[in-house]
Formats: sequence, structure tokens, C-alpha cells
Amino acid sequence: MEIVYYPDPALRRRADAVALPREGLAELAQAMLLAMKEAEGVGLAAPQVAEGLRLFVASGTGEIEHALVCVNPVVQPFGPVVEFEEGCLSLPGVRAVITRPEGVRMSWEDLSGARHEGEFHALMARILQHEYDHLEGVLFFDRMTPADRLRVRPDLDAFEAQYRPR
Ligand code: ZN
Repeated sequence: MEIVYYPDPALRRRADAVALPREGLAELAQAMLLAMKEAEGVGLAAPQVAEGLRLFVASGTGEIEHALVCVNPVVQPFGPVVEFEEGCLSLPGVRAVITRPEGVRMSWEDLSGARHEGEFHALMARILQHEYDHLEGVLFFDRMTPADRLRVRPDLDAFEAQYRPR
């Protein structure tokens, strides 16, 4: 399974809701977990593997056994906004401090279609907001300060120059 890089158009499409159970979804989630682990990431959303589905995996430790597999998530950020440095597996090497609310309430479905709810803080809340953005076609540089956007512009230009349509 290959992770797609900016500016692949798959990253800019709003992902579709998933009707559960869905054939092949468990295999897709498993492949995404392995791709996340191999890339040493802490989260991966289906649009990042060119699947336009509302599905992401997230693991605060990067370990598969600690990962949440979230289908059709609904996130409600809350609390004071805090600064935290983010990266993205679709923009390897680019990092910037992004400001987001500290906490998240989330409901989601598991692969069987059972709905869950939880409250998350700190790193996990940050990962969930970043991955949820991918389902909306939002990339983390959209949320950078103007100064950081200028700073990473050469990196984005390099990704654009290397891009080859699939
Ligand atoms: Zn990302």
C-alpha cells in the first residue's frame, strides 16, 4: 500500500461516508495500520492511500496494538487552543507548529458498525483533529501561520515539481 504525497488530488477530495459492514474494509484498515507503522507515523487517513472513505487509523504510540480504527468519525474539538508541532505522512519532512483546541470529543463506528464515544486530550486529540481534516480534504499547511507557509513554500514547490499523476 502506497501513501500518496501532496499535491495528489486524492488529498483534496472530501471523503464519503461508509455504509457498514463493508466488504474489504477490515483489510484496508489493516493495510493502513501497517503503512502507518512502516512510515513511523501516528495516524493515517484513507484519502492518504487514495481511498475516498471516512476512515482513519490513529495511535498515540505509533504501535498498531494501541491504534484506534475510526469509521465515520464525528469530532468536536473543545478547550483552550494550544500550539503543537505537526508533520504529515503525505508531506514527509515538512513540520510546523499548528494551533488547535486541546481536547476532542469524538464518536465513531468500528469496522462492525458499532458506535463508540470518547474524550481525548493532548497528543491523541491532536492526531484525531489532523486525521479528521484529511477526511475533509484539509491539509495541515492550510492551518499554518502565514510566516510558516512562506517558510515551507520551497518544500511544497519541490513536492509539486516531483508529482507524477498515478
Ligand atoms: Zn496528515
